[in-house]
Formats: sequence, C-alpha cells, structure tokens
Amino acid sequence: MAGPPKKRSSAAKKERRTKRKVCSFCADKLPDINYKDVPRLRKYVSERGKILPRRISGNCAKHQRLLTVAVKRARIIAFLPFTSE
Ligand SMILES: [Zn+2]
Repeated sequence: MAGPPKKRSSAAKKERRTKRKVCSFCADKLPDINYKDVPRLRKYVSERGKILPRRISGNCAKHQRLLTVAVKRARIIAFLPFTSE
C-alpha cells in the first residue's frame, strides 16, 4: 500500500492527522496537575508504572511535563511513609 498522498498546505501542517486528541488537562481547564490526584494520574501510567508518551496520552507539551513531575512526586509519596516508627 502506497498510503495517502501528503498534503503540503500550511494549514495541513498543524494537524498531521485529522484525529487529534485534545489534552484532557486543557479540556478540564486545569492550570496545574495535582500529584494527589492519583486516579487521574493512574490513567497516564502503564501497568508497569511507566508514564505514557505524549502521542498516546494526547497531552500537550506543557501538561505532559507537569504530568511527569506529578507522577514522580506521587511515586515518592507512595514509597515513603508519612510517619516513621
Ligand atoms: Zn494541556
């Protein structure tokens, strides 16, 4: 299969494919990602604990960056107890 012909107009450059996921954080108008929002973070972490890449999660660069930080924080908190014996 040769594939579809590539359109090279300036408008087509922005959206490579017509299907473009909108960043869910932008959609919810969240300026920041709370690391305590574990159920939300879970959606962006694979079963093996890896953070999903942007092309899968569909997040924008800004929120993907915030997400990585939030997930890392959440990991640390999950690992460390709040109180020591
Ligand atoms: Zn976003």
